[in-house]
Amino acid sequence: MIIINPATEQEINTLSEDTPSKVAERLQTLRNGQKAWQALGVSKRLEIITRFGELIKSNTEELANILTSETGKPIQQSRNEINGAHNRIDHLQTNAEKWLASEKLVEEGQTLESIQYEPLGVVANISAWNFPYNVGYNVFLYALVAGNAVLYKPSEFSSLTGLEFEKYLHQAGVPKDVFMTAIGGKEVGQAILELDFDGYFFTGSYATGKHIIQTVAPKMVPVQLELGGKDPLYIMDDVADIKQSAINAAEGAFYNNGQSCCAVERIYVHEKIYDEFVEELVKEVKGYKIGDPKNKDTFIGAITRPQQIEILDNQVNEALEKGAQKLTGGNALEGVGYFYEPVVLVGVNHDMKIMKEESFGPIIGIQKVSSDEEAIDLMKDTAYGLTSAVFSADEERAKAVLSEMNTGTVYWNCCDRVSPNLPWSGRGNSGVGSTLSSQGIRAFVQPKAYQMRP
Ligand code: NAD
Repeated sequence: MIIINPATEQEINTLSEDTPSKVAERLQTLRNGQKAWQALGVSKRLEIITRFGELIKSNTEELANILTSETGKPIQQSRNEINGAHNRIDHLQTNAEKWLASEKLVEEGQTLESIQYEPLGVVANISAWNFPYNVGYNVFLYALVAGNAVLYKPSEFSSLTGLEFEKYLHQAGVPKDVFMTAIGGKEVGQAILELDFDGYFFTGSYATGKHIIQTVAPKMVPVQLELGGKDPLYIMDDVADIKQSAINAAEGAFYNNGQSCCAVERIYVHEKIYDEFVEELVKEVKGYKIGDPKNKDTFIGAITRPQQIEILDNQVNEALEKGAQKLTGGNALEGVGYFYEPVVLVGVNHDMKIMKEESFGPIIGIQKVSSDEEAIDLMKDTAYGLTSAVFSADEERAKAVLSEMNTGTVYWNCCDRVSPNLPWSGRGNSGVGSTLSSQGIRAFVQPKAYQMRP
């Protein structure tokens, strides 16, 4: 498997892809290792995960370079991601013992009743490349702390980072037969689905997620899917600061090149402030520095997967053909690398793919609305259900809109944000199940009900 740097189009490494029989051997090895890991207890496992966090921290610069080289992510955003992901470890340290402790419900009388939380066993984690630290930690760290063994399949676009996870987890003290990687693309993913894992935890696209749930359903084991989104942001006419709202909206849409599951994918703006908002947003986007992701000032790096450029062009061209106007972007950049100048489109509507299908790149459509009711109808017009956001000075007015949203997360005056305190979940085509929070650790255990007559 040849690893290409999307910013230079040069080969940076070659890895050998795992065969289905290697994957099957690993499952067996992990099965053998899991019991001793479970027996170690939560506090010892937490110590090891904490050591892993320290190793990642002390190697941040090297790891950020690896992440930027294989994904094209701007170096400062790679550092931010690596540093930001530590909050998962802090959160586990504070809460995991409490959430995994057995619960005594009836302590007197003829029959004593309690619940014990047992690990699932050996779980498969098939993951995405866009935020490999965040989405990886959400699954494999929580699974490990809960006492499971993990087979981690990084995306083929972030395999070098995946191998670093394995190296540092082992250095920290996670036994080699408790965490293993499977390197490869779709075929290796498929081989995992054909084996009998005790749970499947996936982060990626709706299309792959649907295939996974259909394939593993007969196994009758937990399946969790963290999928894409078409996340709306509504800018009300009463925002305190139109310019700042435009800056924040642009960041929500274009951070990490728009390659975020909860990126702002469509913006609705009240007609009373529409012109000023659009002007400020375009000014902000024109000011973004595009290019070498290793340059500390770069905000827009390379697109990770070259195939995505065709999808972006297709959405932009279709919208233009149907009457949208392009206010900035779309020019080819000179030289090598998969770069895409951020595009802002206005005059868009829901007959256009840009307002209906996940873009997962640096393009945004802005649509004018004349009332909160119109905004609500448009925001709800989607098969996805990851996040929705409203910017407004009025909390009650914002809440009235947010309460109508069929999404796992809602934001008031913020967007494109994940917190370990809160469940991260999608509805509809955005997925099944939750990571993070108490629910995110309970996802990796199964309750056993004890009914005991002494
Ligand atoms: P993808 O679906 O193309 O790939 C994800 C993983 O699935 C990769 O590891 C890939 O090798 C594997 N895979 C592909 N085909 C498979 C098959 N047939 N069987 C088993 N495994 C298979 O997604 P991607 O491009 O890596 O990620 C981008 C998508 O992920 C976007 O839609 C994004 O919104 C979503 N995402 C969601 C979240 C979330 O938390 N909801 C977070 C990050 C990314």
